[in-house]
Amino acid sequence: MLKRRDFLKLTAAGGLISLTGTSAFAESSAKPRTRIVFLGTKGGPRIGLGRSNPANLIMVNNTPIVLDCGEGVSHQLVAAKVPLQSIKYILLSHLHSDHDLEYGNLAYNAWATGLKTPIHSFGPKGTEAMTKAYWEVNKFDIETRITDEGRPDLRKLLIAKDIDADGVVLKTDDVTITAFRTPHPPITDNFAYKFETADGTIVFSSDTEYNPKLGEFAKGCDVLVHEALYVPGIDGIMKKVTNGASLRKHLLAAHTTTEDIGRIAAIAKPKLLVLSHLVPGDNDSITDDQWLEGVRKHFDGKAIVAKDLMEVALPV
Ligand SMILES: [Zn+2]
Ligand SMILES: [Zn+2]
Repeated sequence: MLKRRDFLKLTAAGGLISLTGTSAFAESSAKPRTRIVFLGTKGGPRIGLGRSNPANLIMVNNTPIVLDCGEGVSHQLVAAKVPLQSIKYILLSHLHSDHDLEYGNLAYNAWATGLKTPIHSFGPKGTEAMTKAYWEVNKFDIETRITDEGRPDLRKLLIAKDIDADGVVLKTDDVTITAFRTPHPPITDNFAYKFETADGTIVFSSDTEYNPKLGEFAKGCDVLVHEALYVPGIDGIMKKVTNGASLRKHLLAAHTTTEDIGRIAAIAKPKLLVLSHLVPGDNDSITDDQWLEGVRKHFDGKAIVAKDLMEVALPV
C-alpha cells in the first residue's frame, strides 16, 4: 500500500490526479516514484535454485536503471514486472562474471521483446570491448533476424561507455549517478555508485574490501546497500568448491565482513542499511539476525537483509 507521502509525490509528478481519501489511495496500483528492487542478492558466480546472482533495479520516475547483470537478471526483471524493452540504462560495477555474465544477453532479451530505444551502458574499462565482442559472438543471429524478421539493428541500440575516473556518470532530470572507485582485490577498476533523486540518495557499495572511504562517499545517504561476507559461513562454501584455499583468501581480502559493514554504516549514517550480495548466499540456515549481529556492534540504525524481488521505496 502506498504511504500518503508517496501519493503526494506521485501527485506532484503528475502521475495521479483526483484521488481522494485513504480508500481511493489504498486502491491505487501506482508504484512509488523512486524504488529499488533487489533482483539477485547472492554474491558469487555459482548458479543455484535459491537466491539469484547479483542484479538490482533502480526505478526513478518510470525510468528503469539496471545495476549489474548477473545470470538470471532478465528472468528476475520479468518476475518484477518490468518490460525488458523499457530498460534505459545499465551500469556495471566491475567485470567479475557474477556482475556481467548476462549483460549482453539482457540487451539481447530486451531486443527480442521489442526494444526500439537505445540502452546506454556504463562500466569500468573493458565494458566497451565486451560489448563489441558480444556483437561478434552473436553476429549470425543478429544479422539473420534483422533481414529475416525486420528487426532494428541491436548493435545501434546498446551504447556502451567505459568509466575511467570517479565522478558523475549520468545526469538526467530525475537522477544524478556518480561513480566512486573502491578496491576489490585484485580488481581496481571497480565502482560504487550513488543515485541522487528527488526522493533521496541511494548508494551501492559494489563488491569491495573494507573501505572506510566508502562511508565518507555515502555520508548522509538515505539507503546504503552494502555487500556482505559472513565469516562463519566460509567453511560451508569450502565444502562445495575445489579451489578452497585460494577462494578463502580471496573472500577475506576482497569483501567486507558484517562487522566492518557496521563500521562503514557508523560513518555513513544511512537512514536504512541493506545487506545484499550475500556471501554465502545459498546457506538458508544463516538467519537475518546472524547477518546483522556483526553490523549491530557498530551501527544502531535501521538495517535489513535483502531478499530477491524485495522492494524498497523512497523516501524511506
Ligand atoms: Zn560479486
Ligand atoms: Zn566481485
